Formats: sequence, C-alpha cells, structure tokens
Amino acid sequence: MITNKHILITGGGTGIGRAIAILFADNGANVTITGRRSNVLEEVADSSSNISAFQMDVSNEKEVISVISKAVSKFGPIQVCVANAGIAEGKKLQNTDLEFWRKIIGTNLDGTFLTIRESMKSMLKADWGRVIAISSIAGIKGLKGAGAYSASKHGVMGLIKTYSEEYMGGPITFNAICPGYVNTSIVDTNIKSMISKGISEKDAHKMMVNANRHKRLIQTEEVAQTAYWLCTQAAKSINGQAIEIAGGKV
Ligand code: NDP
Repeated sequence: MITNKHILITGGGTGIGRAIAILFADNGANVTITGRRSNVLEEVADSSSNISAFQMDVSNEKEVISVISKAVSKFGPIQVCVANAGIAEGKKLQNTDLEFWRKIIGTNLDGTFLTIRESMKSMLKADWGRVIAISSIAGIKGLKGAGAYSASKHGVMGLIKTYSEEYMGGPITFNAICPGYVNTSIVDTNIKSMISKGISEKDAHKMMVNANRHKRLIQTEEVAQTAYWLCTQAAKSINGQAIEIAGGKV
C-alpha cells in the first residue's frame, strides 16, 4: 500500500517521528523527515536509502512553504502527511506568560496547520492520501499544569475533525493519534523536572508509568504501527478519529 509513496514526517529525527520514518522506510515508502536539528535528522537519514532529511522549523511559515515544495519537487506529491513535531512543556496558569503560550501554540498548533496546508497542495493531485496528526491524551482531556499544551493538542483535534468534514468523500482521510506517555525524550524531560523538584528518580519514573492506564510506558513502535495501519486498506473508512493509545480509555 505504501511502497514508493512519498511520506512527510515532521519531527522525524527523534522519538515517535523517527519510529514512523523507519517503519515506513522499511516497508518501501519514500520518506521525507524534517526538524530543526540537522544532526539527529542526518543520523536517521543515514540509516536508510529511503529516508531524506530537510531542516524545517514548523512554526516558520516561509520555511514550511519552501521546504515542503522542495521535497515535492524532488520526490513527487506527498501522499502521507504525518504532522508529528511538537514540544511538551507545561506551566500552571499563573506562570504562563504570553511568550511561553505562543511558543507552545506556535509549534504544536500553527506547525500542524501549516504542515497540513502545505502538504495538501500536492496531496490533492493524487488519488489516495492520509493525513495523520500526532495529538495526545492532552487533546482529549485537560492536563493539569499544562494549559497551553492541552489547548494546542485540542486545537489539533479541531483541525483534524474539520478537515475530515471539508474533504469528506474524497480519497484523503484525516485522523489523529492520541498517545499517553511514550518512552521518548519528552518523558525523560518530565522525569528530570520532577527530580529537580526533589522527587527521587525511582518515584518520578513510577509516576510517569502510573499516568498510563495500563501502568507501563508506551513504546514508539506502537504509535508507528498505528500510523502504518491507518495507511492500509483495512483503515480506509477510518476518518476524523482520535485514536487513543493510552492503555485504556482516557
Ligand atoms: P521528541 O522530543 O523526541 O520529538 C519531538 C520532535 O519535534 C523532535 O524531533 C523535534 O525536533 C521536533 N520539533 C519540535 N519543535 C519543532 C519545531 N519548531 N520545528 C520543527 N520540528 C520541531 O518527542 P516525541 O517523539 O515524544 O514527540 C512527538 C509528538 O508526540 C509531539 O507532538 C508530542 O507532543 C506528541 N506526544 C508525545 C507523547 C510522549 O509521551 N512522548 C505523548 C503524547 C503526544 P527538533 O528539536 O530538532 O526540531
């Protein structure tokens, strides 16, 4: 199904994006990964001849327009767009200044909107396409101490639900994957932050694990496999959904 198809993955140099890139490349897709750090991108691109890397800040409109258009000129229309890039930093309401708010919204929500808008320019020319946004359980429920992050991920859900309506009946579906805590640098950073507040490493790790309904951290490959499934024939009627990967109902 995805052999030779062009797939764009923002934030493809690390964590969930990296796992998606490797899985799709291993299955014959033509994978474009983007992000701000060239070193991590190059490392992933060096692991497979099917992966190419471009530096792109998703919050910078001009960059998104020019990089996606460059990738399309090189590898043809995008057929799978994975809007994955994001930052997960939390602050309580009274500590949230406008600069912090704009940083989170600018990356997670503006970035997803710009990535989908620019990808769709070429996707609309093909006869099959999948848009997949990596939202979060914070796109379904409020996350204490992370208002900007929760708002950005709820916003992502708004985009996915809207675009699935806008393009209803066409060859492109729009879905969001909403993971609980996944074993990536985001969880490592959360653990470090708890340690800095005097919580022991063991307790901090336990708190992260216990935050998932099934009391274990989710692996990046689990998210990647779900993205892959969305690109199979079996998922052709799945559209406008928030797919929770959280060990239980959020
Ligand atoms: P990572 O930190 O490993 O991945 C985030 C990626 O986004 C990085 O590759 C980073 O690359 C990229 N990124 C961040 N800001 C920008 C930007 N302005 N422009 C371009 N790229 C950017 O963590 P995860 O893999 O866990 O996160 C991936 C997605 O999954 C995020 O949207 C996150 O919110 C979501 N998620 C993660 C969960 C978890 O527990 N890990 C749970 C639920 C959702 P670079 O810094 O080089 O730009």
